[in-house]
Amino acid sequence: MMAARKVIRVKAAVVALVALSAGCVAESGAEDGTIERVAATPQEEARPEDTEVWDPEPGIVAPGEASAPPSDAVVLFDGTDLSAWNASDGGDAGWSIREGAMTVVAGAGGVQTSQGFGDVQFHIEWRTPAEVVGEGQGRGNSGIFFMERYELQVLDSYDNRTYANGQAGSIYKQHLPLVNASRAPGTWQTYDVIFTAPRFAEDGVLESPGYVTVLHNGVLVQNHAELVGPTLFIGEPSYAAHADRLPILLQDHGNPVSYRNIWLRELG
Ligand code: MG
Repeated sequence: MMAARKVIRVKAAVVALVALSAGCVAESGAEDGTIERVAATPQEEARPEDTEVWDPEPGIVAPGEASAPPSDAVVLFDGTDLSAWNASDGGDAGWSIREGAMTVVAGAGGVQTSQGFGDVQFHIEWRTPAEVVGEGQGRGNSGIFFMERYELQVLDSYDNRTYANGQAGSIYKQHLPLVNASRAPGTWQTYDVIFTAPRFAEDGVLESPGYVTVLHNGVLVQNHAELVGPTLFIGEPSYAAHADRLPILLQDHGNPVSYRNIWLRELG
C-alpha cells in the first residue's frame, strides 16, 4: 500500500543532479516524472560514521549562572550605568537608575543602544509599576524596538484587556501572542527573543522578511513570527530598506516601566 511506504518522491531532474554530484546513479522511471528513492550510499552499505559531523566543532560558551549572561554576551545593562545607551533623539539617556534597574522617565524619550545590531538572541527583564494606574494601552506601556522599528510590546497585560495584537508579548499590530503569560504588576518578567533581521537586495528590494521568536517568562508567545514591515500605530506596514545593523530602542510611553539584566548574543 503506497501510503504506508516511506517514499521520498523528488522531481527527477533534481534527483539526477544530486546523483551526478554524488557520483552515483539515481533510480528513475515513474511516468509522472518522479522517482521513488535515491541515496548517495545505499542504506544497506551505510555506516554510522557516514552521518557523523566532527568539523566544524561548535565553540564553547559558558552559560551564565541563573539569569546571568553567557560568556559571549554583549551586556547592554548590568544595573549600574547607561553607558551602552543614548537618548533616541540624541544626547545622553535620561532614564533613572535605582536598585539595579533602569526606569522610564516620562517625557525623557526613548533610549537606544549606541551600537547597532542585526540578528540577535536577546534577553531582557522588565517590570510594570506595582501601583496600577490607567487601563488598556495606558497601563505599564513601553516596548522593545529591534532595529529601531520592529516593536515587541511591553505592557501590563495582567487582568488588563486591550486589543490582542497590542498586549504584552505581541509584535505590535502584527502578531498577537500565542498565550498571555503575564505576571502581576510590580513583579519582574522576562523576554527571551530570537530576532532575525530582514534582508534587502542592493536595489532595496526585500529578499527575506524579519522573524521573531519570543519566550515570555519562559513561555513561547511568538514562534518564528514573520514581520510584515515596521511597526505602525495606524495603517498597514510595508518594508523599506534599511541598514543591516541598527540600534535596539526602549520606548518611553509615559509609564514608569523598569528594565534590568539586558544582554544579547549576536548571531550570524
Ligand atoms: Mg509600546
